[in-house]
Amino acid sequence: MHPRQCFPSLLLLIGAAMDKKVITLLRTQAFIDGAWVGEPRMPVIDKATGAEIARVPDMGAADAERAVEAAHRAFPAWSKLLAKERSAILRRWFELIMEHADELGLLLSQEQGKPLAEARSEIRYGAAYVELFAEEAKRVCGEVIATHKKDARVLVLRQPIGVVGAITPWNFPSAMITRKVSPALAAGCTVVVKPAEDTPLSALALAELAQRAGVPKGVFNVVTTSDPAPVGRVLTESPLVRMITFTGSTEVGKILMRQAASTVKRVGMELGGNAPFIVFDDADLDRAIAGAMASKFRNAGQTCVCANRILVQDGIYDAFAARLTEAVRELRVGPGTETGVTVGPLISSDAVRKVEQHVADAVAHGAKVVIGGKPAPIGGNFFEPTVMTGCTTDMRIAHEETFGPVAPLFRFSTEEEALRIANDTPFGLAAYFFSRDMGRCWRVAEALEYGIVGVNEGITSTEIAPFGGLKESGIGREGSHHGIEEFLEMKYTLMGGL
Ligand code: NAD
Repeated sequence: MHPRQCFPSLLLLIGAAMDKKVITLLRTQAFIDGAWVGEPRMPVIDKATGAEIARVPDMGAADAERAVEAAHRAFPAWSKLLAKERSAILRRWFELIMEHADELGLLLSQEQGKPLAEARSEIRYGAAYVELFAEEAKRVCGEVIATHKKDARVLVLRQPIGVVGAITPWNFPSAMITRKVSPALAAGCTVVVKPAEDTPLSALALAELAQRAGVPKGVFNVVTTSDPAPVGRVLTESPLVRMITFTGSTEVGKILMRQAASTVKRVGMELGGNAPFIVFDDADLDRAIAGAMASKFRNAGQTCVCANRILVQDGIYDAFAARLTEAVRELRVGPGTETGVTVGPLISSDAVRKVEQHVADAVAHGAKVVIGGKPAPIGGNFFEPTVMTGCTTDMRIAHEETFGPVAPLFRFSTEEEALRIANDTPFGLAAYFFSRDMGRCWRVAEALEYGIVGVNEGITSTEIAPFGGLKESGIGREGSHHGIEEFLEMKYTLMGGL
């Protein structure tokens, strides 16, 4: 055991503005083959204050290979457990996450930046996947197909695919892990997770609770690193890994798909988005404003499904712009752990720069900043919640994910025009629209080229529904009863000589 690990090491005292909190789930080593390993060297930073929270190991390809070998060794026994036995362990993991939700939320808020209430809600949301897949573990079924030969039977077995490599982003450091790991474990797979370099602590805390829940050694491994490419290469190119599941940018997703081609691995890709949020003249304005606020400003606009382009019809445009501006004025920017804060910091100074560039480019092309538009006066990586009117499709903000608290309003006249603009993107993750016309609701929902459509709803994420994108937003679905399918192979078995 590393010296940092004994001591009150595991007790991080946090002088958050609220009150003194003790985090017992702080782990400063990686988790491979059921052991805490590696020298804590890589600093993890509190995104609100810039202070160092802890250090974790900065691992490389050799460590990733060790983790893959451990997962490979653990696979036969884990996959042969009764589904009910795996289910009981997952259920216990879910209960432990819920018991520690406050502590996990505080850790998440610090390493990621989101307000504490949102962080706790992410913990509950992430735990719900573990609960769901604890149940789905017991419902994996094969098939018997009507035979083509009198003396034979045609069976389809469903079996776990094997070792899974999982690479996750910083914007949902807890839920993106449980959304991948719990269906994989439920199916009987073993997993090596590489969390984002900005947010490894939530991943390690989840591993600690999984161990306490009875997940055997080697079944769930976490490799931390500041240099993702070498670890990513092992996870995509090792013949021992049979699937790579990734959540992150489309750019990195394409690299991983190319690498995974060398061993023809299955891929699950949850990639970037450019969500349209369409408000028709016949919308319920109160509902549309509430939806826009939730969709746009949650996690300071750093979600893959957040409204990136707000398209508003002529007749309601001015009223919507005025009401949205009023609502945005009520937001409070500050450290996520401070009471009353609704918008935390962005993940990095680069992220702030990108948001500034999007705003500047929009203004240069004729947009008007109604509120916000610049880094917040409190300094750090905080950006003022922003509303811009007069946005047009020639602006960068229309084509790239802004990933910040900026609501750009685009004006349109007809349903056809709104659909043309909405679908004019290589992305296809989430879309939203607001209308009270039933015919339009069906037409537009069917015409939007997106994997997730919110009709009169600004937040759609739930463990019970299939989450995933079309086009360059991804391949495969996470969550719901479909989510476990991704981790199962189909084996056709012709049982002859009967
Ligand atoms: P990113 O692609 O930069 O990083 C995601 C993960 O990939 C991180 O763990 C990172 O370390 C790793 N990575 C980066 N380069 C790599 C390489 N060469 N090899 C292996 N791994 C590598 O994305 P990000 O900035 O962390 O996250 C934001 C992006 O994620 C946005 O585009 C967002 O839309 C997307 N996202 C999508 C979903 C979804 O479900 N579709 C959910 C959350 C975030």
